[in-house]
Amino acid sequence: MNSCDKVQESLAWGRSIVVSEKEHILNCSKCSEVAFQMEQLDSMIKDEAIDLPLNFADNVMKKIIADERAWDTVTFQDFFAELFNHSLFRWGIGGVGFLIAFSAH
Ligand SMILES: [Zn+2]
Repeated sequence: MNSCDKVQESLAWGRSIVVSEKEHILNCSKCSEVAFQMEQLDSMIKDEAIDLPLNFADNVMKKIIADERAWDTVTFQDFFAELFNHSLFRWGIGGVGFLIAFSAH
């Protein structure tokens, strides 16, 4: 795993960023873009009450299962590009929130 992947994974999962990663973000246009997007995503989650549909969890699981193969080959950059371009953008935010909550258990 190269340092871009490591840094972007830390950002995506909300892990604490160590000094070397911080320095990498400052010197890497790709990672600084991801950091910026994560920051925006974070403030959107905090600022907006996200209305979850009743069958939200079921849909997330279906989506995860359907995407499982594709997920092996997508990079974090692709993932965020997809997330930000997706017509179901709000659903994506909920999905990320769900994954973060899920991974904390
Ligand atoms: Zn980088």
